[in-house]
Amino acid sequence: MKNICSIPLVFPGVFHLIESFIGRKFGGFICCWHNLSAERFQNHVEALHPSKPIPLEELVNRIRSGKSTKGCYALTFDDGIGSTVRDISKKCIDKGWPVTFYVPTGYLDGEILPYQKIEFINKYLPIGEYDVQDFSKNFKSKIANKKKIIKTLTDLLYFENFTVVKKTLDYFINLLDREKKTLLNKEFPKPISWNEIEDLSKKKVISFQSHSVTHTAVSGLSEKEIEYEMVKSKEIIESHTNQKVHSFCYPYGEKKSIGEIAPRIAAKHFTSAVTLLRGRLKKNNPFYLPRIGLYREDNSSFVRLKTVLN
Ligand SMILES: [Zn+2]
Repeated sequence: MKNICSIPLVFPGVFHLIESFIGRKFGGFICCWHNLSAERFQNHVEALHPSKPIPLEELVNRIRSGKSTKGCYALTFDDGIGSTVRDISKKCIDKGWPVTFYVPTGYLDGEILPYQKIEFINKYLPIGEYDVQDFSKNFKSKIANKKKIIKTLTDLLYFENFTVVKKTLDYFINLLDREKKTLLNKEFPKPISWNEIEDLSKKKVISFQSHSVTHTAVSGLSEKEIEYEMVKSKEIIESHTNQKVHSFCYPYGEKKSIGEIAPRIAAKHFTSAVTLLRGRLKKNNPFYLPRIGLYREDNSSFVRLKTVLN
């Protein structure tokens, strides 16, 4: 489907026509990336021309005041991976493109993100069967093979509380021999530093917003824990940027990872909150905003296709 449907969108003129029609009907959109080169990112943004990137805050203000968002979109990046934030910031400063980086403060303060630990376990855990009876609640049988383990661990991230996630991931990391274990701190992708954030946030086009403290699915947390994740991360980022933190990004961003309570709590502390549910902007709840996820393997016509399908 990817190839057949996106053929007409190879032609920018066809895209302009479709985009203009859809924009009138459904308004603008918010793009989301995690990790890609500045060159690939530039291709994506140029593919969306003549739609124009505007600051996320301005886009949200338009939604909240009932103004049209046609022809506009926002650029957002999740997780604060050092090399990505550095390269993309440089490009955005150069081009004058407003960009928002959602950062999990615990990661910037030295914690390894849970999905990075799973990538590590996947890389170094020898193929075989493992006794998982300590975690029988999450594992269906008492003995599991590596493939099953990786799948179960990944599923856990989407709904489970951080204490359970941490305990489970650390159990498997501890199964590795000592030499391998020491590689974890060396190999995990390093975050952007607070010093760099302090410098970058002086630039008008760059904004840092909250992606929680521990990067846990908020549906697995109590009301008190959700509030802590939101308020604490907001305070920490504001103390480094001297700018207001007005937006929250739900870790994992799916319906089952967000739950019922979190949007209500986000409304107390932010003016918007974003998900990873795909869609364009049209009279949305500002605390449940859809985004369009784009990836390094997406070519220009597929980027266009993704933004016009919703
Ligand atoms: Zn994230």
